[in-house]
Amino acid sequence: MDVADIRNLMRKTQASILENGFLGKRVDVLEHVVASDGVRAMMESALTARDRVGVSDFVLLENFTSEASFIENLRKRFKENLIYTYIGSVLVSVNPYKDLEIYTKNHMERYRGVNFYEVSPHIYAVGDNAYRSMRTERKDQCILISGESGAGKTEASKKILQYYAVTCPASDQVQTVKDRLLQSNPVLEAFGNAKTLRNDNSSRFGKYMDIQFDFKGAPVGGHIINYLLEKSRVVHQNHGERNFHIFYQLIEGGEEDLLRRLGLERNAQQYQYLVKGNCPKVSSINDRSEWKLVRKALTVIGFNKDDVEELLNIIASVLHLGNVQYGEAEDGNSCITSDTQIKYLARLLGVNGAVLTEALTHKKIIAKGEELMSPLNLEQASSARDALSKAVYGRTFTWLVNKINASLTYTDDSSKHFSVIGLLDIYGFEVFQHNSFEQFCINYCNEKLQQLFIELTLKSEQEEYEAEGITWEPVHYFNNKIICDLVEEKFKGIISILDEECLRPGDASDLTFLEKLEDTVGGHAHFVTHKLADAKTRKVMARDEFRLLHYAGEVNYNVNGFLDKNNDLLFRNLKEVMCMSENKILTQCFDREELGDKKRPETAATQFKASLAKLMEILMSKEPSYVRCIKPNDSKQAVRFDDVLIRHQVKYLGLMENLRVRRAGFAYRRRYEVFLQRYKSLCPDTWPNWQGKLPEGVATLVKHMGYKPEEYKLGRSKIFIRFPKTLFATEDALETR
Ligand code: ADP
Ligand code: MG
Repeated sequence: MDVADIRNLMRKTQASILENGFLGKRVDVLEHVVASDGVRAMMESALTARDRVGVSDFVLLENFTSEASFIENLRKRFKENLIYTYIGSVLVSVNPYKDLEIYTKNHMERYRGVNFYEVSPHIYAVGDNAYRSMRTERKDQCILISGESGAGKTEASKKILQYYAVTCPASDQVQTVKDRLLQSNPVLEAFGNAKTLRNDNSSRFGKYMDIQFDFKGAPVGGHIINYLLEKSRVVHQNHGERNFHIFYQLIEGGEEDLLRRLGLERNAQQYQYLVKGNCPKVSSINDRSEWKLVRKALTVIGFNKDDVEELLNIIASVLHLGNVQYGEAEDGNSCITSDTQIKYLARLLGVNGAVLTEALTHKKIIAKGEELMSPLNLEQASSARDALSKAVYGRTFTWLVNKINASLTYTDDSSKHFSVIGLLDIYGFEVFQHNSFEQFCINYCNEKLQQLFIELTLKSEQEEYEAEGITWEPVHYFNNKIICDLVEEKFKGIISILDEECLRPGDASDLTFLEKLEDTVGGHAHFVTHKLADAKTRKVMARDEFRLLHYAGEVNYNVNGFLDKNNDLLFRNLKEVMCMSENKILTQCFDREELGDKKRPETAATQFKASLAKLMEILMSKEPSYVRCIKPNDSKQAVRFDDVLIRHQVKYLGLMENLRVRRAGFAYRRRYEVFLQRYKSLCPDTWPNWQGKLPEGVATLVKHMGYKPEEYKLGRSKIFIRFPKTLFATEDALETR
C-alpha cells in the first residue's frame, strides 16, 4: 500500500464510521500501519470518532469486566443512533423510540450474504447469518429474542421476517406464503396485543414462529405456537391500560351496518369491559386505520366472509356479555335485569336465550345422581360471566392461531424436506409492585430460557474446549437448574403443590397453598416467606406472599388468586351452552367430548409447564442466535437514556456474564479444512495445496501471517482465535493481496 492507498482507505473508514459507527475491521488494521503526518491527522479524527461512538463489539472493550464501561459504551452508541452492538455473536439492541433510516431495502442488500464482522451490527446481520448457516450447514436455526416489555422484541422479530420476505428467493406461489407470513402479524396483534403502561402495543401472549424454507432457500410455509394469552385483560384492565386492540378497532372502524347488525354503538365508553382502565384512546394508535389493515390481512390469510362474520360475532358477544346487568332478588340470588344483551347474545352466538340466562345465574350440581340447578349470588354470577368471556376469547384466539397455521401449511409434497428458522418473541422477566400467578408463569418461562442459554451456549462453549483439548480458564456461571426444579419438579415442586391444592376438596385456599409451600419447600435456598424471611434475608414480607430468588433477582408473589387462576374453571352448564352454539368457530372451540370427560382438565400451570417443555425440545434441536433487547427509559421517549433502568436490564439479561465467557474464550473458531481452504493463498507453503496434515498446514499458515502465540490455539479439529481483530487482519490480507 502506498500513502495514496492508505489515504483512500482512511477516507472510506471515516465515512463508514460516521455512517455506521462501525470500527471493527479497518481501523484495527490501520492502527498497525505506520502513518505519515497527514494520514495520522486523519486517523486521529477517525479515532476521535471511535471515542465518540464506542466499540461495535463489547468484546473489544478495553475494560470488559466493568459494568460502568459497558453502559458507557451503550450510551455513546445510543446517542449517535447506533442502537445495535454485539457481544461476539449476540446482538444487543436498544429501543430508539423513533424511526431510524436503517431498515430500507438498501440496508437489506448491504447485509445479504455478508460476514458478520464486515458490516456494522444490525438485526439484518443476525437474520442473514442464521439464514446462511441454515443453507450451508443444513442445520435448523432459531433466533431467541428477549427483553422486558417495550424493549423492542416484537419489532425485532418483524424486522427479521421482513428481511426474509425481501431478500429470499421467491416464485409466485412463494409470494403468497410471504404475504401470509407478514400479514399474520397485524391479525395476531389485533387480537393478542394491548396498550399497557409499558408499551402501547404490548404483546399479551408468547409467540414462537417457524419459518420453513425449501431446498432453494425460499420460504414456503410457517407455523405458529402461542403461549399463555393474558385472558384476564378481557374483563379487567389496570388504570391507563386497554383491552385487546380488536375491540376498539371494531367500534371505531366498523362500518355502520356492521355495527348495527352486531348491536354495537360507536362509543367504547358504553362497554363495561372497555372502561376499567379509563383509556379509550391512545395517541400513538389509530384504531380506524388499523381496522382496515386487519380486515385486509384477514383476507390475505384466507379468511372467507363467513369466517370473518362469525369471528366478529364473537368479539361483539364478549362486549355484550360484559354489559349483562345483574340484580339481586329478595332471596339474595342473582337475576338478569335487562334482556337486551341476552337477545343479542342469543342471536350472535346462536344459542337459546333462556338457557343462556339460566346458565349465567345458576350452577349445575349433581347430587345423589340427580342434576340440580343451584342459584348463584351476585358475586358468583358475575364471576361466572367473566369466566365465560375469558374462555370464549381465549379459545377464539387459539382458533385464530390454528386457522393462520392452516393457511401457512406447506402443501407441496414433492419436496417435504425443508429447513427451519424459528423466531421466539416471548415475555421477558417481570417484576411489578404486585406480582401474581401470571408473573410467576412468565418468570418461570425465563428461568427455562436461561437454562437453555446455559445448555446451548455457556456449557457447550466449555465442553467444546474440553473436547478439542484446549486449555483455558473455566468461567464460573450460576446454573439456575436448581430454581427450575423448585418450580417444576414432580410431586415436590411449586406447580405440583399448587395442583394438589387445586384438586383437594374442602378447605383448600390460597393461604393453605402457601402453608403447604412452607412445609414442603420452606428449606429451599431460593424460597422465602415471611416466616422464613428473617433467617434468609432481612427484608420484611407480607403474610400472603412468597419470594423466589430468581437468577435475575428477587420477586415477591402474592398468592391471592393462584388457585382460581390455576383451576381456570368454567361452570359445566356454561360449557354446555357453548357446546350447543351454532357459531361455526365456537363449535370448534367447545368440544362436546369435553362434557363427557369425567377427568378434570389440566390446570393452567401444568399446561404451561408442558408447553414450555415442548418449546425447549424444539429449541434444543436448533442452532441458536440471540437478540437481547433493552428499553432505554420508562416513558417511551426517544433520546432519554436512564442509567438505573438500563443497569437493571444488563444485569438480568446476563450480559456481563455473557461478555466474560466470550472474552475468556476464543472469539472465533474454524475447522482446519475450512480455514485452510479460505486462507491458503496467503502463504507460499500452503498454496495452491497443502500436502501434509491439516493442523500442520494451518500452523504453517498462521506463523507465516505473524500470529502471536497468545492469539490462537490449535485444537483437535479446529483453530481457535482469541481476538476478532486477528481474523479481521487475515480477512483484509485476502482483500488487499
Ligand atoms: P416488546 O415486544 O419488547 O414489548 P415492541 O417491539 O412492541 O416491544 O416495541 C415497543 C415500541 O417501541 C414499538 O411499538 C415502537 O414504537 C418502538 N420500537 C421498538 N423497536 C424499535 C425500532 N427498532 N425502531 C423504532 N422504534 C422501535
Ligand atoms: Mg411484544
